[in-house]
Amino acid sequence: MNMSQSSNAWPDAPPMDDLIQRFPLPIALLDDGGAVLILNECFERTYDPEVLDLAPLQDIIRKAVPGWKTVQVSGRGQGQMEVQAQVVRVRDNLMLILDSAMDPELQRKLDELHVQIAQLERLSSIDSLTGAWNRAHFDRVVASELERSIRFKQPVSLIFLDIDHFKQVNDTYGHQAGDSVLCELVQVIGAADRSSDMLFRWGGEEFVVLAPSTGYRAGSALAERMRSDVEQHRFTGVGPVTISLGVAEHIATESAEIWFHRVDEALYRAKEGGRNRVDVDQRGGSDMWAAESGPSVIRLVWQEAYECGEPTIDGQHCKLFELGNALLDASFKSESSPEVFSVALDKLLAHIVKHFADEEAILAQHGYNDLEPHRLIHAALIARASELKAAVAAGKTTLGDLVEFLANTVVAQHLFKEDRKYFPLFKKHIG
Ligand code: GH3
Ligand code: MG
Ligand code: MG
Repeated sequence: MNMSQSSNAWPDAPPMDDLIQRFPLPIALLDDGGAVLILNECFERTYDPEVLDLAPLQDIIRKAVPGWKTVQVSGRGQGQMEVQAQVVRVRDNLMLILDSAMDPELQRKLDELHVQIAQLERLSSIDSLTGAWNRAHFDRVVASELERSIRFKQPVSLIFLDIDHFKQVNDTYGHQAGDSVLCELVQVIGAADRSSDMLFRWGGEEFVVLAPSTGYRAGSALAERMRSDVEQHRFTGVGPVTISLGVAEHIATESAEIWFHRVDEALYRAKEGGRNRVDVDQRGGSDMWAAESGPSVIRLVWQEAYECGEPTIDGQHCKLFELGNALLDASFKSESSPEVFSVALDKLLAHIVKHFADEEAILAQHGYNDLEPHRLIHAALIARASELKAAVAAGKTTLGDLVEFLANTVVAQHLFKEDRKYFPLFKKHIG
């Protein structure tokens, strides 16, 4: 990020600097390398900038461990004093907050600031025209998805898609009609993706879908569903529009750049091959991992970062992981001991239903703004789980699909994506 171009640390989120400037505690915003981006008014009133060079503060900044630490500093004209210091990661930057006495009112304001920052972060991750995630957000999430894929031996696929002859749409119907097509396209594609997939606007009329836990076969099926949905859709004022898609699964040993290049080439072949089609690079780690060690490598791993700070919810989330793992274990023995599988399945389903209800009640008590959409997502997940359970019983779908849905979509992905949105409600401290 080039700070010299603007006094604002986030050009796409102008209120952010303002929030920090007006905040009634001393705050220093630093870049990754520790260089100062902003010292807010309160900081400038209270300290000399050199205070940041003090070894104990430098130590806190370097380690960026969440939580308050006590340090000795000297304030303007006040000599040595003891203060509480905390560093919070905000996107690519570090926010250092200093406080001499943790009064509850300030603590409440700090919590509010955290919520506002979370909202601004969300806004600055979204493409303003279409509402899809933007490319900056892609850059932030792709590295962690790759790491997750390699660590847990879970495949991850990318789909590049590009509107066919979009220039003609603009030329014939005008740029504004073109813009509406882009917005409508995001809606149509969004209907085909699954809750764990993420749709990004790559630029212009190009989009990217990042599909975790998806090999090139499932990625190809997803891309084909998107292609067909778009082909059948009639765009307002424009009529039919088609897209071409390229699919590639990541190969564990390759760099992200080589992976993108393979997806790009697949898209190019789809265009060359006549457009309105999907081209798949049929390689990827999923085949190798399947041959290597079978499916038992799949495990849900609980991490501290999944804790929201509300004990009932955290306890139930942890239990979800436990029951999810029990179901994964049981699924590998489902042929030899179907009753063990069936017990594990019913236990997990019952816990999900109870947990969703409890979580909704707790969120309601805390006045969570987005409770209604969250409720709807819960209801849809439960409905889908029952549907899949019935489909498995009727032999219409595989056990694998059900297990994947429950263990990955419901247990891991829902918590990762939807639940995280309410985490700021319960955080005692930022971090
Ligand atoms: P192809 O099938 O080979 O992809 O042909 P194309 O016409 O879609 O591709 P080309 O790259 O030649 O043109 C892309 C067009 O997309 C040109 C540009 O005017 C249009 N475009 C890019 N971004 C936007 C946008 O934000 N809004 C609108 N309305 N048009 C855009
Ligand atoms: Mg195009
Ligand atoms: Mg939830």
